Amino acid sequence: MATLSQAPAIELIAQAERDLAPVWAEIERIRHHNQRKVLKAFIDHKIGEQHFAGTTGYGHGDLGREAMEGVFAQAIGAEAALVRTQFASGTHAIAVALFGALKPGDELLYVTGHPYDTLEEVIGTRAPGQGSLMEWGVLYREHDLLPDGRVDLEGMVGALRPETRVIAIQRSRGYSWRPSVTVAEIGEIIRRVKAVRPDLVVFVDNCYGEFTEELEPCDVGADLVAGSLIKNPGGGIVPMGGYVAGREDLVERAACRLIAPGIGRDGGASLDYNRLLFQGLFIAPNVVGEALKAATLASRLFASLGFDVDPVPEAKRTDIIQSIRLGSPELLVAFCRGIQESSPVHAYVQPIPDVVPGYEDNVVMAGGTFIEGSTIELSADGPLREPYVAYYQGGLTYSHARIALEQCLEKMRQAVRA
Ligand SMILES: *Cc1c(COP(=O)(O)O)cnc(C)c1O
Repeated sequence: MATLSQAPAIELIAQAERDLAPVWAEIERIRHHNQRKVLKAFIDHKIGEQHFAGTTGYGHGDLGREAMEGVFAQAIGAEAALVRTQFASGTHAIAVALFGALKPGDELLYVTGHPYDTLEEVIGTRAPGQGSLMEWGVLYREHDLLPDGRVDLEGMVGALRPETRVIAIQRSRGYSWRPSVTVAEIGEIIRRVKAVRPDLVVFVDNCYGEFTEELEPCDVGADLVAGSLIKNPGGGIVPMGGYVAGREDLVERAACRLIAPGIGRDGGASLDYNRLLFQGLFIAPNVVGEALKAATLASRLFASLGFDVDPVPEAKRTDIIQSIRLGSPELLVAFCRGIQESSPVHAYVQPIPDVVPGYEDNVVMAGGTFIEGSTIELSADGPLREPYVAYYQGGLTYSHARIALEQCLEKMRQAVRA
């Protein structure tokens, strides 16, 4: 049973920090590894100031863009990458990757159960008639997770059909109470699927996962991955965009979808964003490390108060999301208000649950971020549905997250008293 202990929040936090020492040692190790890996990609590509200049118009022969895509691909173990501010969001990047890889009559099989809310409309399980994959003639099925939330490795292979063309894996939990899928588990899925169907394309929705582990999905054989630049790999400073990476031919097909067949990766001006893309990628391992420390603090703090948390503080992590089961709409809203009031931007506004395009239930969102909607910056949100889980993520600096969590606890105590 959860209780909002009346001990000073800062003391509870200090105790949690002491408990977390071994967990943080592991986070530091991963951060150092990934910083070295990213730095090496810069050095190997001989990045110089000439790569920071942008192009306009068609963007043909954009040196900086081409070098950025090479560095990015190397950093995440991919053959090629399409890293563009022309992607409106992570959902857009995922949609482009899938439309590139699938043809009418092909089947897309999600093996991590029901996907992230915004993908329902891309796939067409909700509002199919607006150009979804299903409207276009792509077949779709999902293979459920096991009751413990793990991927059904045996059943999944039996679920393959001759028309199955793409297997999709969502690495992060998204808005569901299930474990995220680690890179080792992704490798195991790939090994089993490719043993019977080497021709299948394995796609990974990599949102929130980048640089949380030493390896990335492409390092263990994923053919195609996609994600958002206003999450982990943008380091909190890239103002918009997304990426698709993986096998060269599949990345080129995605580029032909994003831009046009025949133009593909050769088009798309970088304007003045090249330097920011480089800088964001360069600091991303560090920012992800800060966000992971913040997530483990939230986990330890709320676990010590008796709330169910997922992941538990000492668990191996593969994304930056921390779920906290708050159990009531009042506590969920109070938690989000604590985050909002401690934000550098828009601290004076009050989060109110409302409709968000792409999401089915009302959602309450907190995020006083420099880049609108950026969730590598400190943010929290949750759909207004049972069991009222707060999804907490990000934090450009650990200290900021620490201050905000103190305020969250305060707002929750006030909500209970009211
Ligand atoms: C964030 C996210 C997406 C894409 O969301 P956008 O808000 O469109 O960037 C897709 N899948 C998962 C698991 C995500 O976390």
